[in-house]
Amino acid sequence: SKTVADKAREEREFLPIHGYRDELLYLIEKNQVLVIVGETGSGKTTQIPQYLQEAGYTKRGKIGCTQPRRVAAMSVASRVAQEVGVKLGHEVGYSIRFEDCTSDKTVVKYMTDGMLLRELLTEPKLDSYSVIIIDEAHERTLSTDILFALVKDVTKVRPDLRLIISSATLEAKKFSEYFDSARIYLIPGRRYPVEKLYRRWPDADYLETAIRTVFQIHQTEPTGDILVFLTGQEEIETAETKLKRRMIDLGTKSSEIIICPIYSNLPTELQAKVFEPAPKGSRKVVLATNIAETSLTIDGIRYVIDPGYCKINSYNPRTGMESLLVSPISKASAEQRAGRSGRTGPGKCFRLYNVKDLEPTTIPEIQRANLASVVLTLKSLGIQDVFTFDFMDPPPETALLKALELLYALGALDGNGEITKVGERMVEFPVDPMLSKMIVGSEKYKCSKEIITIAAMLSVGNSIFYRPKNQQLLADNARMNFYVDTENVGDHIALLRVYNSWKETNYSTQWCYENFIQSKSMKRARDIRDQLIGLLNKIGVELNSNPNDLDAIKKAILAGFFPHSAKLQKDGSYRRVKEPQTVYVHPNSGLFGASPSKWLVYHELVLTTKEYMRHTTEMKPEWLIEIAPHYYKLKDIEDTQPKKTHR
Ligand code: ADP
Ligand code: MG
Repeated sequence: SKTVADKAREEREFLPIHGYRDELLYLIEKNQVLVIVGETGSGKTTQIPQYLQEAGYTKRGKIGCTQPRRVAAMSVASRVAQEVGVKLGHEVGYSIRFEDCTSDKTVVKYMTDGMLLRELLTEPKLDSYSVIIIDEAHERTLSTDILFALVKDVTKVRPDLRLIISSATLEAKKFSEYFDSARIYLIPGRRYPVEKLYRRWPDADYLETAIRTVFQIHQTEPTGDILVFLTGQEEIETAETKLKRRMIDLGTKSSEIIICPIYSNLPTELQAKVFEPAPKGSRKVVLATNIAETSLTIDGIRYVIDPGYCKINSYNPRTGMESLLVSPISKASAEQRAGRSGRTGPGKCFRLYNVKDLEPTTIPEIQRANLASVVLTLKSLGIQDVFTFDFMDPPPETALLKALELLYALGALDGNGEITKVGERMVEFPVDPMLSKMIVGSEKYKCSKEIITIAAMLSVGNSIFYRPKNQQLLADNARMNFYVDTENVGDHIALLRVYNSWKETNYSTQWCYENFIQSKSMKRARDIRDQLIGLLNKIGVELNSNPNDLDAIKKAILAGFFPHSAKLQKDGSYRRVKEPQTVYVHPNSGLFGASPSKWLVYHELVLTTKEYMRHTTEMKPEWLIEIAPHYYKLKDIEDTQPKKTHR
């Protein structure tokens, strides 16, 4: 019988791109830069690197292929390793933040666009590569946009390097113009007609409508899997719970509908499930984020349910506020999403919105993002004037100015806008500047060990504690054990205590279970922490520990996050110290409902019904002046200390 690898190899020949292999290779040989446009699922991401490898390009250097999303990089690398018949991480590997699955043998390397950007810091001419593929270029992520300019420069000094810009949509003309009239190559795709149907139930929210539509399809339509586009992990989990409950209500057998979630934080071992064909007699219902729009191709989809929303990063340069906002998708996205149902046969797309209400395209991320990290990277690459940088679409000047101001306040740039020693150290860490400053700055407060633990725990995201539906009270009590103290401890210190307690049990899984803590997240935190230690050693920062001096730890947090400080208002809400915004303690915070602290520093803002501060810790206002004298003046903090006289 055939193995999975045999089957994967055979399937290669049935992909639309297969017939264009030789022509493609010829064009790549003749053109230093080539723009390739092809329907999602035609085989661009998985096949082109293999063609290049077969044609001998890997004798001269690696083939690097960027992806905007971590899951896509991992999943595609794993598929290609399977097709080639090698172990993942050997000849074919991937590299994403805090996870390097490559080796000396690796010649085909998938990576996030952010990782290639980091590689440019140590390898400015990308000497170890023979070909760079910037894939999913139409996504126009912040890192991809910066890569366009930097890699374009590299092609000028490396005539042997080949650059491929690959896109699923027809923005190709713009790419071609930007790359000095680069040749465009279209891979004709197979596409079956897609019938677009509009669905709305009055008085129902879109999640409810989407779920009803799933059952309607299941009961009235012929076989074929269903793909539902949702906005994020939380919504996907809610949808999964609701679907399961409804299946019971409607007497649907659990073998009839197989629910497959897919989103970027889904644990690796669950990711493969989405690609497995549904057994005979059952229908797969894939609950996906935007990732299934063009990054991942899932075979067998005949029905798409599209509520018309996605989460986008939005930054207000005036206030420095950054949030993930649920926003309507663009017309271009709506078309892509519908197209996912017509790959293997005629499809149906159920739209829960009116397409006339949509904007034609999405604004590139660079025009709506916080640029601090990017500006620091550019400065470290020796790019002095970021205002004249060769952006495909320039960001607003105010956003660049705001980034420069922040980097100056953090001590990463000097008065002339040149990168400082501190800035150079910060760049070593693959995290945002405020977090890297917290890490680099911790040396001074003699608590770098505590701070990297906190940084690692924060980097894991929002999945340390869990609250099972039927044991919420127990879970909350277990959690509060990490906060108990003579004063309000705050979320950062609680995270530190969780980690240290876990360490004391010799990293026990049982302990995690008993304390309602996700052991997988803890292991990931330990991995990240180990890497941060490696980086601290690399830049020669002393590892020191000061576990009982909470003030020192709080000051070190503030050394990076001083712009995120907030002051209590009369009504119990908070106000950002430098901006007139009202913000609230997040209900998941240990400080929620506690006797309120006058001054807080927070890790990030999340916007749901209100602007919530996630991960907050108490601090003292005079520390703001001590730590960031260029940023805060006495008047920023004095109105709460009316009795104190000025010096
Ligand atoms: P494109 O980049 O043009 O959108 P891909 O190269 O990603 O196309 O996908 C080509 C085909 O490879 C898909 O139709 C799918 O069948 C298969 N494929 C890709 N990734 C995986 C995976 N992780 N598991 C199983 N099949 C996959
Ligand atoms: Mg692709």
